Amino acid sequence: MPALFLSHGSPMLALEDEPTTAFLRSLPERLPRPDAIVVASAHWETGEAVVGGAAHPETLHDFHGFPEALYALRYPAPGQPRLAARMRDLLVRAGFATTVDPVRGLDHGAWNPLLLMYPEADIPVVQLSVQPCRDADWHYRLGRALAPLGRDNILLIGSGNLTHNLREAFDGRHAHAPDWVVGFAEWVAGKTEARDIDALLEWQARAPDARRNHPTTEHFVPFLVALGAAGAYRRVERLNREFQMGVLAMDAYVFSE
Ligand code: ZN
Repeated sequence: MPALFLSHGSPMLALEDEPTTAFLRSLPERLPRPDAIVVASAHWETGEAVVGGAAHPETLHDFHGFPEALYALRYPAPGQPRLAARMRDLLVRAGFATTVDPVRGLDHGAWNPLLLMYPEADIPVVQLSVQPCRDADWHYRLGRALAPLGRDNILLIGSGNLTHNLREAFDGRHAHAPDWVVGFAEWVAGKTEARDIDALLEWQARAPDARRNHPTTEHFVPFLVALGAAGAYRRVERLNREFQMGVLAMDAYVFSE
């Protein structure tokens, strides 16, 4: 099973018709149908690794000020406590002090893209938190620890945004993607295609305008989790080169062996 990185963009994605909406709807055609899905989401931040263990996770509307129709959406996919326990065991064995949260629901980093990809909501979903207080290597190793899941037909998705300066997105100054956004996205693409993991793990020091594209790191670290889960990938496809609000690069990556 390939590993994925997705840029989830605005929560309105599920209600709008834009290139990323169509892309996510068509993405499952490129993938084997998974038995379960693991999502490492930018919208679940914790100090240590936590896995969602609810049998029936509720849909979290973890955003404010959006149209009522968005709050009416539900993604009723089941959880899979058995998989959550296995993830905890894999992570503990890799040295992460991991716990299972038995009630945590699905945040929009998980359900928003999945609503488009698998609208039937009939594939179990288990979430993994990210730890933006930790470094790139930490997140890469989180993904590495979960790589065995891919061999059991479980799809691991890192859900964040390739670039994520929300302040500059909302101030509306950028009708077109500026050079500092394009340059960062191209740097990531080049290093990913070259399988230069060392460079990617030093992205904050080496990528151009890293700080401006990610004033905080929670939307980039899911990329590193996916990269880790992909291991020594042989093939990588960069898909969906849209920019939302000028500065949010919506790149997705499919890593396969
Ligand atoms: Zn987000």
